[in-house]
Amino acid sequence: MNNKTPLALFPGALPIGSTVGIFGNGQLAKMLAVPLIQLGFRPLTFSPDKDGCAGLACDGIIAEYADAEKLREFASRCAVLTTEFENVPVSAVEATLKEKQGLEFRPGIRALEVSQDRQKEKNLAVSLEIPTPKFWVIRQRSDLDDETIVYPLVLKTAYNGYDGRGQRSVNSKAELDAAWTTDLGQAVCIAEEFVDLAKEISVIVVRTASGEIGCYKPFQNTHSNGILSETHWPAEIPNAIEREARAMAMRLAEEIGIIGILAVEMFLAKDDRLLFNEMAPRPHNSGHVTIECAHTSQFETMARAICGLPLGRLRPMHYGRMRNVIGSNDGFGEGKLDGCSVHVYGKAERPGRKLGHVTWRIRPYVS
Ligand code: AMP
Repeated sequence: MNNKTPLALFPGALPIGSTVGIFGNGQLAKMLAVPLIQLGFRPLTFSPDKDGCAGLACDGIIAEYADAEKLREFASRCAVLTTEFENVPVSAVEATLKEKQGLEFRPGIRALEVSQDRQKEKNLAVSLEIPTPKFWVIRQRSDLDDETIVYPLVLKTAYNGYDGRGQRSVNSKAELDAAWTTDLGQAVCIAEEFVDLAKEISVIVVRTASGEIGCYKPFQNTHSNGILSETHWPAEIPNAIEREARAMAMRLAEEIGIIGILAVEMFLAKDDRLLFNEMAPRPHNSGHVTIECAHTSQFETMARAICGLPLGRLRPMHYGRMRNVIGSNDGFGEGKLDGCSVHVYGKAERPGRKLGHVTWRIRPYVS
């Protein structure tokens, strides 16, 4: 073999040793770096955050997203680009892509544009006849007077909301006025029917450049203060709901032509409606349980998809439970570090911050 010829593991895959650029350098980038390295690639992050915990796992460029020179350097070093979070500025991604012919951003620009904006997400769902909670768009003061609005509801900023931030529960017109005018700063918002929840689930879809598509069994999630606290996998839901949830998530992934991973959050209402909540073109906190409990984890399958390898097996090997450690490292102690897998992200303690997670393999999964 000519040792100048880059070897790829699979026809059409990136050559072994290629650099994979990741926008963001938090825990998702850190956990994605692990299988990238395992598969023979070189992860490289880009973020303005000097303390990003992915620095424990791989190299990174620390610069603002508007730093054209550093984006040029990022482009020159990378064979493909991806992201660990949906709020990376589209302008930064586009500026990087312009620097090198043939460089691709996987999941794709459209995936970012849609998932950065709750209104676009909702409109996409509606256009695909995917049920959502009833919603009203609030752009200006007069929108608050819409007489079709029903209470109680949840008022959410259209942009930059995550982990329950940028949200208020609202029980009356007076509360709606106050929440929009004062708390949420008159930003564009979605007022959303408050759903009486039976369960919250998420579905993670993976799709390759050749259109190969797969999806994990749904995850069942418990939140506290708007932040995911626990996941059980697979979700305990009727088969018909599972089929519907998977079909819904795959329809969204196909429609936006994602390459990589799409996480879709859904509500199962007490009145049996299955409703689309939101989505993100990146690994999802609920999918962390797949690291120990699936044949191929969400991080490995994402790495495979963006690097041109086949998806792997998404089936569970074990029933699993994952608990987040939030705010204080003391939370790790509750797991007694025994009989579980412990993931410490390496971030400083701060109230409400995800510092790590703990996973239990409950028993072997037999389908
Ligand atoms: P989100 O940022 O939209 O995922 O919301 C965070 C959490 O708030 C969800 O996981 C739910 O637990 C809760 N939540 C959000 N929207 C609603 C809703 N329309 N009805 C009931 N609970 C909601």
